[in-house]
Amino acid sequence: MTHEVNITRMDAFTYRDLISSGDAVVLIPVGSVEQHGAHMPLGTDMMLSTKMSELTAQQIGAIVGPTISFGYKSQQRSGGGNHIVGTFGFDADTVIGICRTLVREFSRHGVNKIVFVNGHYENYQFVYEGVDLAMRDLAGLGEGPRVMLLSYWDFVTPQVIERLYPEGFPGWDVEHGGVMETSLMLEYFPELVQMDRLIDHPAAELPLYDLFPVDPSLTPASGCLSSGKASTAEKGRILAESIVTGMATAISGRL
Ligand code: ZN
Ligand code: MN
Repeated sequence: MTHEVNITRMDAFTYRDLISSGDAVVLIPVGSVEQHGAHMPLGTDMMLSTKMSELTAQQIGAIVGPTISFGYKSQQRSGGGNHIVGTFGFDADTVIGICRTLVREFSRHGVNKIVFVNGHYENYQFVYEGVDLAMRDLAGLGEGPRVMLLSYWDFVTPQVIERLYPEGFPGWDVEHGGVMETSLMLEYFPELVQMDRLIDHPAAELPLYDLFPVDPSLTPASGCLSSGKASTAEKGRILAESIVTGMATAISGRL
């Protein structure tokens, strides 16, 4: 049985009731609008970070805050690159500012436990900076919130990785548009995945450095950094179970 956990689909009276104890945990998904090859939508990162947050919130009695849809610039070695049309890259200042404001606003509402659930590789350090600046803003104003920051894929256990990547795991950085994201999308948003359009190719071999201006020929023509060909909804279920269990345990244990 599932219940509504997303505050953007809730009225303000219900929201205020849910946070009134001061003990509520709010999960804030952080995504991006970014090309994910020919087979998946631009909103993949925002949809998956939101879905993983909602499933976790249902398990631990938490609620999910507004999804941050606009992520930091896609980088060639982790997201294909910001030069690709279909990708929208926001300056670090923007991402930092949104995260900083959300911590302050939830804090003003009386929420003391906040979790940022990252779903776009390049965001992490800028979410971290936004939280850090907010903690500085709030220092000295009472107890202040407790904030956790994580990327959801880090909760896929080594056992699941071994089981789902029998040919060897390419790494989360080159998972962009690969088996994990495609399998999760097949499980939760099957109507938005077109497996017949998927472009199959070996994992990208990217250099150990970044270049300005970018050399577009280093990114596979698919825009993805590894192939999602072996993806199935069943793998999506296995991945999600690992992710949600791990996130639920971490959040319940530490916040
Ligand atoms: Zn992605
Ligand atoms: Mn991404």
